[in-house]
Formats: sequence, C-alpha cells, structure tokens
Amino acid sequence: GDVRLLGPADVRRLAEELGVRPTKKLGQNFVHDPNTVRRIVAGANLTADDVALEIGPGLGSLTLALLDACRAVVAVEIDPVLASRLERTAAEQAPGLAERLTVLPADGMRVTAADFPQPPTALVANLPYNVSVPVVLHLLAELPSLRHGLVMVQSEVADRLAARPGSKVYGVPSVKAAWYADVRRAGPVPRAVFWPIPNVDSALVSFVRRDAPSTVDREAVFSLVDAAFAQRRKTLRAALAGWAGSAALAERYLVAAGVDPSTRGEQLDVADFARIAQARTSG
Ligand code: SAM
Repeated sequence: GDVRLLGPADVRRLAEELGVRPTKKLGQNFVHDPNTVRRIVAGANLTADDVALEIGPGLGSLTLALLDACRAVVAVEIDPVLASRLERTAAEQAPGLAERLTVLPADGMRVTAADFPQPPTALVANLPYNVSVPVVLHLLAELPSLRHGLVMVQSEVADRLAARPGSKVYGVPSVKAAWYADVRRAGPVPRAVFWPIPNVDSALVSFVRRDAPSTVDREAVFSLVDAAFAQRRKTLRAALAGWAGSAALAERYLVAAGVDPSTRGEQLDVADFARIAQARTSG
C-alpha cells in the first residue's frame, strides 16, 4: 500500500521532535521494526470490514500498518503529547489513508462503547504492560462488538492468558479471558524491536470471542474465581468457605455442580466455575 512504516530513524526523529522521554509507568516502549509491525498485522487476520481498536498507539508504528489493513482505526492514547501528533503522522506517512484514523486522547481502562464513532471489531495493540490484563478484560466486557484480536504483552502474561486448566500458570486471568474468548499464544517478539529496549520478554496473544459459557451473571462467576485462586494451594472446599459462607455450604455447591470438593481451582475450567456459581445462586 501507500504506507511508509516507521523505522528506527523515524522513531528517533518523532521522539526528539516531541521531546518524548519514555516512561515505565505508561509502559512506553516503541516498536521501530517494520517487519514486526507487518507480522502483527498479518497475525491479526483483519479483513477490509474490520474496524480496528488500538490501545496505546504511541508514535504510530502499528497504527500506520493498521490503516492499510482495515476499514477504520480508532487509536486510544493516554499520553496527550503522543495523541496530538498521531493524525499528522498518519497524513505524512500514509497519505490517502489518514482519514480512516480516529484518535481518542483517553485512558483505555475507561473507554466505553459510547466513546466510539463506530463499533470496533478487532483489538490490535502493543499494550502498556503494567495494565495489559485489566485493559483486555475491560474491553471484552465493555465492547461486545469486539470479535477478535491480537495483542502484544509481556511473555509471562501471554502464558497466563492462554493457559489451560492444570497448567502451573493457569489462574484468574486465564479463566476470565476464557469467559469471553478462545485465547492462544501466538509467538515471541524479540526485545531489540523496541526503543527503549524493555527488560522483559514479549509475546503475542490472539483471541476469538465465543459465546458466554453460561447464563449465570458474569460478576458472580468472577468473584467465585477470585476466591478460588486467592488461596490456590487449598482444596476448593476450604478455599471457598468464605465465599460460600462456610465449608459445608462450599461443599454443597461443589457437589451440586459435579465438582470434587477436594480438588483445587487450578483444575477447573470456566464452565465448571459457572456451574458452581449457579449452584450457589439456586441455593
Ligand atoms: N503501539 C506503540 C508501538 O508499538 O510502538 C506503543 C506501544 S507502548 C508499549 C504502550 C503505549 O500505551 C504508550 O504509547 C503509552 O503512552 C500508552 N498507554 C499507557 N497506558 C495507557 C492507557 N491506560 N490507555 C491508553 N494508552 C496507554
């Protein structure tokens, strides 16, 4: 397409022009490798009908490639200095495609469906790492229009989000993400593609939304999941005593849900948790 992606010299020039001093607090590590950007966009399975949502566009490395791959892009950036430069970068680097871009200077943790000119269908983002899990869960909850996505996160977080029951790293993020979507790890990303170079490894995670596994209220299931993993080495009978009111009640709900009270939460999938929450709701 007629898009010039940002290379190392462009990232340096833009950062200098804006006086950007990347902060850890905002997870500011900017991609300066066009091949990585192409790989992310290719892995996101975008179609010309997709409206992409990017959280944290930064200097626009990924944004530019997204403009060429879908109908529209909404970029949500919390740093006002970065947000204010983005439209001009699109006009300079992707003339003819720039009108596809909407920039929202906002916190990705707080956006709701009403903030969007059109409903976003795909999340594609190199996420700020300290808030990547809450951002993904927030967006899946708030934006039912989001059907699929590919995000870059810290490698350990990618493992956790995509973990299956029985795995060592299976936990609260795994179960909650599975409520909304089929989640898969989609490969590592080398540290050298970022400026500044981060001190953690990165990986891609892809997801495709699925039907909710249960009609039970989501928040009821999520508070059960929080309780089950708060004491993950205990049996469920013990770990859920506080949540249920007593160990005897916990045992009753577990048995009603067809779950062995002496197992641990790490063995259960999201449908099991939903049945336990349902058992409590039904008394
Ligand atoms: N996408 C760009 C890239 O690949 O070069 C930048 C990625 S950088 C890892 C994360 C970006 O998210 C930064 O631009 C940062 O300012 C922004 N950010 C941090 N917290 C945010 C939040 N809560 N909402 C929206 N953007 C945020």
